Amino acid sequence: MSRTPLIAGNWKMFKTGPEAVAAATSLAGLASDVADTDIMIAPAFLSLPLVSEAVAGSNVKLGVQNLFYENEGAYTGEVSAAMVKAAGADYAIIGHSERRQYFGETDDAVCRKVKASIDGGIIPILCIGETEVQREDGKTFSVLDKQISNGLNNFCSRDLSSLVIAYEPVWAIGTGKTATPDQVAEIHGNIRSLINKLFGNELAMSIRILYGGSVKPDNVSELMSLGDVDGALVGGASLDAETFIQIIRYDK
Ligand code: PEP
Repeated sequence: MSRTPLIAGNWKMFKTGPEAVAAATSLAGLASDVADTDIMIAPAFLSLPLVSEAVAGSNVKLGVQNLFYENEGAYTGEVSAAMVKAAGADYAIIGHSERRQYFGETDDAVCRKVKASIDGGIIPILCIGETEVQREDGKTFSVLDKQISNGLNNFCSRDLSSLVIAYEPVWAIGTGKTATPDQVAEIHGNIRSLINKLFGNELAMSIRILYGGSVKPDNVSELMSLGDVDGALVGGASLDAETFIQIIRYDK
């Protein structure tokens, strides 16, 4: 089964509104002839409506870096799936390790956010990943299995047809350390097997599994050549349009 690659940029808490518009406009121009690869950028919530206008009609889609699982209500400071959809987002990054680490996001909250995304017509990108200590302790597979089983608790395969999983080893995010191709191949194969076990072969074969963690123009081709790698979630190297387009054009 062929899976359309997805190259996604997580802009984290960088760029003011005008800076985000400038970078997104530049990216939309540079990517105008890209075919057969889905492109997404996730600016800060505040910039979303501005960036949405800037990339309208282009092949650059938008995402958010988080959302809340309730539709509306007295939840000070939170933003719902319906709100981000109305502002132009098609994707949501859910359970990023920085949200788990700094904002106490649990697997249960992640699961509810995945559900809220799907119910709201947003494609969830479920992030999973082990810390350096967990890897050294030989716990990588059990940590990832738990993040997936708990994060997708009570779903059936039909619900998950749009789901994307991003494997992001915490020790590789923003550190310049990338997992080796052998490590990535092993983990991605394991994730696909687990999806097969939990939800069946059809979803296992169609689900896109991204790698994230210090992806750069000079390592993306090797990562993308691995059979179970269907794209990349890129932080630092997505901030500059000229650099990000080189990642998007990984096969050129
Ligand atoms: C990320 O934030 O998801 C990420 C992978 O960051 P970086 O590419 O900077 O390691």
